[in-house]
Parts: sequence; structure tokens; C-alpha cells
Amino acid sequence: AYVVVDNCIKCKYQDCVEVCPVDCFYEGENMLVIHPDECIDCGVCEPECPAEAIKPDSDDGLEQWAELNRKYAELW
Ligand code: SF4
Repeated sequence: AYVVVDNCIKCKYQDCVEVCPVDCFYEGENMLVIHPDECIDCGVCEPECPAEAIKPDSDDGLEQWAELNRKYAELW
């Protein structure tokens, strides 16, 4: 799955939400999050993000962000 990281905080763009084919973006506390079980790894959102806040969860050091994405996505 892809994860949203801190560059997203207070970002006002929603380009990622518009392009996601499975609508798996959700509102977190002050940023968007991706539901890891709904994301189909298509990668379409990554280049659309003007804040470069979307990364594949296979990138190093993103475990805490992956947990946070899951936590907030599952509140919905
Ligand atoms: Fe949605 Fe594809 Fe981005 Fe996953 S990788 S959040 S399915 S646009």
C-alpha cells in the first residue's frame, strides 16, 4: 500500500483524492491518510501530490506513518 506522510499536514490540495480509483483516502486529524487494506497499489496518486507526501510503504522508515494511516483510516 501507499502511505501519506508529514508533508501532507495542512496541505490544502486534494489532487490525490480525485485520482484514486478506489476512494481510499480519508481525513486524519490534520492530514489525509490512505486505508492500507483498500489501496490497490496503483501508484497513480504519488506523482499527483504537490507536497510529495505520498510514498510506497516499502520505503525505509515509514512504519510509524503506515500505522498512523491505518489508525485514522479505520476510524471511518
Ligand atoms: Fe489510491 Fe492508487 Fe494511491 Fe492506492 S496507490 S491510494 S489505490 S491512487
